Formats: sequence, structure tokens, C-alpha cells
Amino acid sequence: MSGNWQRRWQPLLQQWVIISATTAARPWSGATATGHESTLAKHDPECYLCPGVTRASGTTNPSYTGAYAFDNDFPTLSADAPTEHSAHDPLQSYAAAQGRCRVLCWSENHNDTLASLSEEKIIAAVQLWQDEYRTLSAIPEIAQVLIFENKGVEIGVSNLHPHGQIYATDFVTDTAVRMRDAQAKYARENDGESLLQNMLHSDHVKERLIVERNQHWSVIVPYAARFSYETWIIPNRKLGSLADASHDEMKDLALCYQRQVRRYDTLFQRSAPNITLLHNAPCDDHKDNEHWCFHLAFHPPLRDSEKLKYLAGFESGSNNIVNPMMPENAAATLRELVEVQA
Ligand SMILES: [Zn+2]
Repeated sequence: MSGNWQRRWQPLLQQWVIISATTAARPWSGATATGHESTLAKHDPECYLCPGVTRASGTTNPSYTGAYAFDNDFPTLSADAPTEHSAHDPLQSYAAAQGRCRVLCWSENHNDTLASLSEEKIIAAVQLWQDEYRTLSAIPEIAQVLIFENKGVEIGVSNLHPHGQIYATDFVTDTAVRMRDAQAKYARENDGESLLQNMLHSDHVKERLIVERNQHWSVIVPYAARFSYETWIIPNRKLGSLADASHDEMKDLALCYQRQVRRYDTLFQRSAPNITLLHNAPCDDHKDNEHWCFHLAFHPPLRDSEKLKYLAGFESGSNNIVNPMMPENAAATLRELVEVQA
């Protein structure tokens, strides 16, 4: 496999990804992304996520310890959105942007990182994902609960307090519709089998794309990775969402997730920027939700410790991403990394 000029099919998103290792060798005189590590205080009275701080809304955070969730003071979607919607109009339609936006703090300490959290704290943070998913998905109006994390100044995050977010929407997002349709179609054409489970058990993934496999979870680089070091954490049995995961599975996920975060920190030589997405099944009672298998996706924006990936003209115009890294090589690199000890 040369790694040049190969299109690979991304079966969940139903789109082509272009693998082109030659683009990585282009001379680079553009912006470089070096670490922005600074010495952060354990508590920052200016940080609206720290315990005891009064937020812009006038609410004062409790003196929490460990993982803590609250409603976003500046929500993109709101339960209070006006409910009117337009009549059917193919050119100008509108509807209410209803939903809930939550903020999830992983720790009371402003200077903690995911990699440095104690075992007890990382388990509590991951347990919060399950608790929040269960609570929000039980609200009748909510159709999807997207838990995610934006990490790092490189991708525009201004607050370095370790935290994630939730957008719980009253509609199913475009990506989830594509993933649901793809998994349901695959199941119909393959005796009800799971697309993600079959992907996980393919020989090529087991031999070339696996990063880690433990009792309950596997970490892989997807065959059609869109980002140089994209990885997915997939359950070893089909779970529609984290609501279905056992206590042992949640604990294993927490430790597996932290190991993968540490691999990125080692690879990029700093507390690495990342976008992390939890793809739980939509909760809108659609019959095709039954074919959904959960996965957690990391979309690291770095190509190496200094170069950021930008989605430029071709990619913006085509929606077909160019990945300059052979996924098999990325998996081999990640597999070999020694964990950074906290
Ligand atoms: Zn803080």
C-alpha cells in the first residue's frame, strides 16, 4: 500500500475520504502550532467553571468536587425557544431551535487535565456522561443527545478548565441521520448484523488498525480515517448507547479513554488539542435506532506536533476530506506509544 491517491469509503458517513500521503511531504511555510502550556492556577476566580465562582447569569457555582454539570448560560438551543414554525416552503422554512445545552466539568481543579485525573476522577467524569445521557434522553421532546468536548486553544477554546458539553436537540442532527441510515441499511442487507461490530471484527482491522483491545472496548483507527490520528473507541458488544453499558463497562471505558488521551499527549508532546464526540443512538423512537452501535470518536486537529489540519477549498467545497496519513501507519504509531504517567 503506497498511501497515495487512494479513495476509501467511510461507511458510517457514506462518503469518500482521500488518503494522500504525498500531501504530508509538501514544503510547509504556513502557521505552526506549538504548545501553549502555561502554568495554570489550581483555582481561577475569573473562571466561570471553577467552584464558588459567580457566573454571568448571576448563579454561583457550588463548592463541588469531582465531576459537575450545569445548564449552559449562553445556550445555542433552548427549551424556551418560541415554538412557531413556518408552513412547508422548499425555499424558506424555519422551526424552533429547541433543546438543552449543558456544561460538564471533569474536575474542580482548574489546572487538571484528562490525562492527569486520578482513576477515581476519570471514572466519575465518564459516569457523568451516562447519567446525563439517561436524564436528557428521557425528556420527551429530546431526539438526540450529543456529548462532546472541544479541547485546546488551537481549536479556539478560551477556557482551559477541563470540561465538555452536551447539546440535546429536539431534532436528529445531519451526521446522526447519516449514521443511522447507514447502520440500518447495513443490518437489512446482512441478516441484522451490526456495521460497527463487523468492522471491529474484520481481519484487516484486527491486524493493522487496532490500537488497543481490552475486555470491554477496542480502540481502532478507522479504515477511512478523515484525520491523521483519528481513533474510535467501540464496545466489544453492540451497545446502542451508554445507557446500556454496565458498571464494569463504564469503568473500563473511563480507563481506556484516559489511556488514549495520554497517547495523544505523548504523540503531540503536550496536553493535546482534540475534538471528542460520543455517538450515542438518537432517542426519538425511530425504528432504525435499534441498529445503532455506540462509538466514541477522537478528531485530533494536529497532523504532527506542529501542523494543524485545515479544511480548505477542496474539502470545504466537496465534503471529501484529504487525509495525509495512512491509517495503518497511524495505528502502528499509536500502538507503540508508551503512556505518559500522570
Ligand atoms: Zn476553572
